[in-house]
Formats: sequence, C-alpha cells, structure tokens
Amino acid sequence: MSDSRIFKAKCLCGEVSFKAEAPLKEVGLCHCSMCRRWNSGPFHAVGIPLDALTVEGGEENISYYRSSEYSKRAFCNNCGSSLYYHGDNIPEISNKVYFSAGLLEEPTGLKLAGHIFCASKGDYYEIEGDLPQHETVE
Ligand SMILES: [Zn+2]
Ligand SMILES: [Zn+2]
Repeated sequence: MSDSRIFKAKCLCGEVSFKAEAPLKEVGLCHCSMCRRWNSGPFHAVGIPLDALTVEGGEENISYYRSSEYSKRAFCNNCGSSLYYHGDNIPEISNKVYFSAGLLEEPTGLKLAGHIFCASKGDYYEIEGDLPQHETVE
C-alpha cells in the first residue's frame, strides 16, 4: 500500500465530509438507468475499500436509499448530494463502496478508465472517446 494517498471529499452543503486513504487511480462511468436517475446523469464512481473510508463530519446527515434488495445508495439528507453506492448484499463487492468522484477535492490524480452499462445509457447523448465501453459490468 505504499502508493496510498489521502483523499478528501465533501457534499454540496459541506455538512458531510470524508477522508479516504487508499491507492486510488481510476474512475468508472456508469450509464445504467438507476445511476442516471440518482445523479441526473452517468455516475462517476471511484471504488474505495470500506475500511479505507472514514466519515469525518456529518455522519448524522447521511441517509440511505435501498435502491434494490442487494444495494443501497447514500445521500446527504441536508443538500441531497449523492455520496456513494454500496452493494452491501453482493458478496463480490460488499467490501467497498463506489464513491461519487465529483465530491473529491482536486487535484484528484485520478483518470477515467471506462464506461459500464453502456447498453442502458440515455438516448440524448453519445459516449465519446476511445475508453473501453462495456454493455453491462464487463
Ligand atoms: Zn450536504
Ligand atoms: Zn449504475
């Protein structure tokens, strides 16, 4: 974990703040209809191990919406910012959250790595560029 860095993040109103210490590098863009409704657009997600993520402030302002039987989505109950997706009942990914990259303090040093759920993207935009595009998760 020698390439771990400290990332800071906060929601729009600033009540909820986070710190993550992890070797993060990539952001994935999810085009599924649930993420698009949740974010009003594709979801820029960075995978953070649960044990690397600390809530620094405003834990009482974090609410959860159970978007399916296998996952929930955290949001700030003051400003409504989308915070993270947690597939808490999906064993393969339950040990991490997919955090909203837009909340991170810059410079993030992260790079967009690719697109998932392209088959269910919105019909009002095209996916540009040469990054990998996956129909579903891969
Ligand atoms: Zn907020
Ligand atoms: Zn999605």
